[in-house]
Amino acid sequence: AQTRAVRDGDHYVINGAKIWTSLGSHAKYMILLARTNPNEKRYAGLSYFLIPMQTPGIRTQPIRKLTGEYGFTQTFFEDARVPAECLMGREGEGWAIAMKTLTFERGAAGGQAGGLNRMSVTIDAVVALARRSRREGQPALQDPFVRDQLVRFMIEAQGDRLCTSRGRVPALCSERPLAIPLSNKLRVTEQARRMFQFALSLQGANAARWVGDAAAVDGGKWQRAYFNAFSATIGGGPSQIQANIVGERVRGLPKD
Ligand SMILES: Cc1cc2nc3c(=O)[nH]c(=O)nc-3n(C[C@H](O)[C@H](O)[C@H](O)COP(=O)(O)OP(=O)(O)OC[C@H]3O[C@@H](n4cnc5c(N)ncnc54)[C@H](O)[C@@H]3O)c2cc1C
Repeated sequence: AQTRAVRDGDHYVINGAKIWTSLGSHAKYMILLARTNPNEKRYAGLSYFLIPMQTPGIRTQPIRKLTGEYGFTQTFFEDARVPAECLMGREGEGWAIAMKTLTFERGAAGGQAGGLNRMSVTIDAVVALARRSRREGQPALQDPFVRDQLVRFMIEAQGDRLCTSRGRVPALCSERPLAIPLSNKLRVTEQARRMFQFALSLQGANAARWVGDAAAVDGGKWQRAYFNAFSATIGGGPSQIQANIVGERVRGLPKD
């Protein structure tokens, strides 16, 4: 992290920039990891702040996503003075605190700027889409390949539901408490991306139509959901990193 926080009496003065701040234009506070000790390298010398976004010197620049929506900002700090009490923990402990915070995000379904995602479009909706879509003049649902795929998604969705329920019962997770939330994030987000890709494949050439096109299936919501599904596979750490974490912390494999 290059962004600097310099102690000045009862305040820290912050200079630098951050990117991908989820809903930064709307947020009242943001988590900021900034360098308080420039003589230390990498993770050492970082500190964790919870800072009010309305502070003079903090400016947000919305970032337009592939979908045309705005979910993130780049956030600039120009001599922004924040009270010293915004520091969480002690100076230099930032990385450890951030990793603890990320454990929650990595156990959830990714970041919150993803927009329409799996939570609002379920496998049942994909089945309904297959019923309406045509293949060789027949409803796509009659195609054995389509049925096979749908059943696989249903089994996965049911597995996710059961795993999530199990994760809420500590007695059932005592051996490896992080196993279910950490692996759920990896599995559920990748599964959603595959499911939306499949939903688009049901639409044939219409898959290329976008929101606003009168001929787009369901107003183009599948296309938007597909693009947005990538965000959950990246937010809080991309799938490859998540797989590393599951390998190391859950499976006990050697470090990458
Ligand atoms: C929905 C969403 C919300 C977000 N919200 C915030 C936010 O509020 N605040 C914030 O600060 N950031 C936020 N981010 C940014 C997010 O934390 C980063 O994009 C993410 O951690 C990946 O980091 P990166 O972009 O630097 O990619 P990199 O880490 O550079 O990864 C690039 C590619 O290289 C691969 N890669 C990297 N390292 C390895 C490895 N060791 N082994 C194998 N492959 C590897 C990755 O898997 C990926 O495919 C958000 C992102 C999204 C999508």
